[in-house]
Parts: sequence; structure tokens; C-alpha cells
Amino acid sequence: MTDRESGGMTGRDHAASCQGPYGGETDPGGCGDPARFEVARHLRAPLRVCPVHLGPSLLLADGVLWPPGISLIR
Ligand SMILES: [Zn+2]
Repeated sequence: MTDRESGGMTGRDHAASCQGPYGGETDPGGCGDPARFEVARHLRAPLRVCPVHLGPSLLLADGVLWPPGISLIR
């Protein structure tokens, strides 16, 4: 059973913003663009990034799996 079409929130943060190329949760110089991809990380929360920072984040952020696990979130 799914309530995906009801328009209700499903508990996820629907306004996720890009966490920048370094994966900092509270980076003051962060990107702030809407995140479109989620990068799986080892022992860390998945990293949400915009298209511009998807590539750099794979190379620069901590704990990124290799090969990378990338999900489209919107
Ligand atoms: Zn970004």
C-alpha cells in the first residue's frame, strides 16, 4: 500500500539542499541549491548534492563508496 499520490509528506525532508562538494552538514559557504542526487556513504548519512556538485562530492567528500552509489531524489 502506498500513499505516494496523496500529496502528503512522507517523512523525508522534501526541501533538501545541496551539502556542497565536501559533505559538510553546516558549511557556511555551502551551495544551498536544491539537492537532486543522494550519494551513499560508509557509516555516514547519505550526502545530498545538486548536479553541479555531484562530481566533486564523489571525489572530495568523506566516506563515499567506490564505485559510488547514487540515487536520484527528485
Ligand atoms: Zn551544490
